[in-house]
Amino acid sequence: MTEAIATPHLTLNDGTSIPQLGLGVFLVEPDEAERIVTDALEIGYRHIDTARIYKNEEGVGRAIAASAVPREEIFVTTKLWNSDQGRDTARAALEKSLERLGLDHVDLYLIHWPSPKHGKHVESWEALIELRDAGLATSIGVSNFMQTHLDDLAAATDVVPAVNQVELHPAFQQRDLRAFHAERGILTEAWGPLGQGKYELAELPGLTEIAARHEKTVQQVAIRWHLQEGIIVFPKTTRSERMIENATVFDFELSDDEMATIAACDRELRVGAHPLNTDF
Ligand code: NAD
Repeated sequence: MTEAIATPHLTLNDGTSIPQLGLGVFLVEPDEAERIVTDALEIGYRHIDTARIYKNEEGVGRAIAASAVPREEIFVTTKLWNSDQGRDTARAALEKSLERLGLDHVDLYLIHWPSPKHGKHVESWEALIELRDAGLATSIGVSNFMQTHLDDLAAATDVVPAVNQVELHPAFQQRDLRAFHAERGILTEAWGPLGQGKYELAELPGLTEIAARHEKTVQQVAIRWHLQEGIIVFPKTTRSERMIENATVFDFELSDDEMATIAACDRELRVGAHPLNTDF
C-alpha cells in the first residue's frame, strides 16, 4: 500500500473532514471500475466520487473491500438518482447503493439534481436528514442546485447542505454561486473540472504559458487552480499515469497574477446539462 497523496483536507459545515482532491468515476464502465479504483487507491487517492446512475458502485465497493487501505481512510460519495427522489423512496435507494458498495455507510450522500420534472428536492432533503441521523451517511449535500433550490431547502429545514457539487472549470467558474455558498457555509465541489475534455484548456489565454513556466500540463494547472480557489475536485481518468499526473499538483503554486489570468478565462461556458433541464 502506498502513502496517501498529500492533498489538503477541508472541514465540512458538520465538522467532518474531506480530502480536497479525489477521483471521479462518471462514465467508468461497470467492469472497469474495480481495476480503476484499485489503481487509484494504490496511487494514494482516498476520495472516490460515484453515483447510483453511474452503474459502477459494485466495482467501487469491490476495490475498497480488497484494498489494504482501511475503510475509514477512504471518503466515498454516492448520489440519489432523480427517479428515486421522494420522502419514502430515498431510504431504499441509499440502502441499495450501500448494498452495491458493500458498505454500512457512505461519507457523503448527495441529491444528484434538483430535477424540476420530479419536483421533490425539498422532501428528498428531509429524507436525507433522516438518513444522516440514522448513520447511513456521515454527511449530506446536493448537486446541481441553483440558489433558488438552496433557498427552498433553507425555508423548509435548518440543515445546510455540506456541499453543492456543480459543473465548474476555468471556462465556467460559477463565481456568483460560489459567493452564495460561502455566505451559507456550503463547500463547492467541481464536476467536469477539466471541462470534460469538451474544449481545449490549452486554448484559454495564458494557460499554456503558465503550464510551461511550472513545467506542468494545462490539466495540472486547472486542478491546481481549483485547489487554490478552495474547491473540492475529483478529475476523472481511467489511466493510472494520468491519475498520477492529476495528483502531482502539490509541488507548485500559482501566483496571484497567474490566478488572475485564469480568472479572466471565464466564458460562462456550460458543457453539461443545465440544472433546470426537464429531460431526466
Ligand atoms: P473531467 O473534467 O474530470 O474530465 C474527464 C476527461 O478528462 C476524460 O475524458 C479524461 O480522459 C480527461 N483527462 C483526465 N485527466 C487528464 C489529463 N491529465 N490529461 C488529459 N486529459 C485528461 O469530467 P467528469 O468526469 O465529467 O467530472 C469529474 C467527476 O465529477 C466525474 O467523474 C463524476 O464523479 C463527477 N460528475 C458529477 C456530475 C453531477 O451531475 N454531479 C456530472 C458529471 C461529473
